[in-house]
Amino acid sequence: MVDYGINLWSNNDFIIEDGVVKVGTHTKPALIDIVKDIREQGYRGPLLLRFPHLIKNQIDKIFSSFTSSIQEYNYQGAFKAVFPLKVNQMPNFVLPLVELSQELCYGLEAGSKAELILAMAYTNKNSPITVNGFKDKEMISLGFIAANMGHDITLTIEGLNELESIIEVAQEFNAPYPKIGLRIRLHSSGIGIWAKSGGINSKFGLNSTELLEAIALLEKNNLLHLFTMIHFHIGSQISDISPLKKALREAGNIYAELRKKGAKHLTCVNIGGGLAVEYTQHSQNHHRNYTLNEFSGDVVFSLREIAKNKKEPEPDIYIESGRFIAASHAVLIAPVLELFSQEYDEKALKLKDKNPPLIEELLDLYQSINEKNAIEYLHDSLDHMESLLTLFDLGYIDLQDRSNTEVLVHLVIKKVIKLLRHKNHNEIIRIQEQIQERYLLNCSFFQSLPDYWGLEQNFPVMPLDRLNKRPTRSASLWDITCDSDGEIAFNPSKPLFLHDVDVTKEEYFLGFFLVGAYQEVLGMRHNLFTHPTEFSVVLDSELNKGYEITDILEAQTILDVLDDIDYDTKEIERRLKLRIEEQESLNDEDKKDILGRLYVMLSENVYLKTIAPLDN
Ligand SMILES: *Cc1c(COP(=O)(O)O)cnc(C)c1O
Repeated sequence: MVDYGINLWSNNDFIIEDGVVKVGTHTKPALIDIVKDIREQGYRGPLLLRFPHLIKNQIDKIFSSFTSSIQEYNYQGAFKAVFPLKVNQMPNFVLPLVELSQELCYGLEAGSKAELILAMAYTNKNSPITVNGFKDKEMISLGFIAANMGHDITLTIEGLNELESIIEVAQEFNAPYPKIGLRIRLHSSGIGIWAKSGGINSKFGLNSTELLEAIALLEKNNLLHLFTMIHFHIGSQISDISPLKKALREAGNIYAELRKKGAKHLTCVNIGGGLAVEYTQHSQNHHRNYTLNEFSGDVVFSLREIAKNKKEPEPDIYIESGRFIAASHAVLIAPVLELFSQEYDEKALKLKDKNPPLIEELLDLYQSINEKNAIEYLHDSLDHMESLLTLFDLGYIDLQDRSNTEVLVHLVIKKVIKLLRHKNHNEIIRIQEQIQERYLLNCSFFQSLPDYWGLEQNFPVMPLDRLNKRPTRSASLWDITCDSDGEIAFNPSKPLFLHDVDVTKEEYFLGFFLVGAYQEVLGMRHNLFTHPTEFSVVLDSELNKGYEITDILEAQTILDVLDDIDYDTKEIERRLKLRIEEQESLNDEDKKDILGRLYVMLSENVYLKTIAPLDN
């Protein structure tokens, strides 16, 4: 049975049972039931499901892994973590994250003024805030305000000019002051698409000369006691552990050397983010070559060794993992609107009394195809189609002939798939590229999977039900934007197979998993498609269904979308109304009716409701 690699990517967060995908908790609600539940309430178009318990799961995993590594190595430093807000700032993610981590030393990381305000408002008492990224004086003042409010905040300096601003701002405020971190520029860099954050030419951080200057500057201004942390971040989605180990050795030695240069309050090493998520559905291409325990073990062990060798205390460890925390909590559900070849059934065939000879041959192939000759006949049909299309271009056959050609070839393809259904997949794999089906999905990849579009990042995708039936169609996925890049093409090295369903008679939903990190805020409004309707699923074994749906946020209406890009929506409404009123061919009754219909649509969401009868 095809399991869509669920054991590779899901960690039992989701499981397959009785032919459907279920949430992997003891109540095991099926995703398809949750989706039907919400659609019964009238919501249409793509849906984003959030599972707060999966946020908690990931936080707990990181803390327990580091706690056990610290015990194993009898490490003397503490472990603390912050969530980097840039990975997901949406309220229905951040608020549960903050609430569910109250018992832990788990804070927020901010990279801009707006994120810093969020961190100042929501970080739990006694949990840390760290601030990275480029800062002006105003942002630094915000950091001082946060410290005055009682926050445990560290401003990480990206360049010496920021340090000078801190020294200036310090004169305007009373204690308590924010702590100061220095971002170090490492030789080591990560590998993969996001590696640019590290390395000697990276955008961020101080080189050794600047580090020494920074210390001197702080000392001169009597602020050296504020310098408590060094920070590095070698890039997101670290697929290979070895660059991290190298970075740790480098950072560990810098830590020890800076202490020897007099930075006696330096007690923390912040290792940034980068902990990778396994997105793969195919065992031959893993996205991560280490486990979480290996990761935490390496961090603790490396820092302990360096501290021991250099006779310095073992530093507290900070981590800023974002992707690892956020990815699993969100699932995008896209209704399938159409299978491209569905319209090609026998009824569509309008053969003439006398057909061109190649069409007669196609018909013969279709009628006499059997399991033995299936692949040979398929190839013959595809050849015939090529020839017939050329004949059409040259003016020898007409549009009806061309239509019959298309229908016959698709009928042959369907018959081949049916005949070979019981064979093993390899047989079909040989021909799958030629016979793929296109699935039209009611969603926008630009809005909901921007990293697929921009970086070819794969996300696990699978149907929510029919999982006890073998999927027979090699599939490419199309979204509803008018852009040819809105396609996830069939890739023979990472094939996706889906079911042959008649979506005019039955519903078919695809789930895209692990979409909770980076996708939501990076998503763009190509064609003015907006964030899908979202809701949270809170598991509760006391309830009949085993879950409760909360925090429903419907996709924006057409008018809201236009308002967001700064159109005057009153003016739009006025202009539409005027046009209708001026239209002489309409009587007053018609005008009222048309205007009424138009107004209803302006307040509906932008996704499709009408192509598939069942998505209506
Ligand atoms: C983006 C970023 C992170 C988060 O990285 P992940 O790979 O999502 O864990 C952490 N720290 C800094 C400084 C970042 O820029």
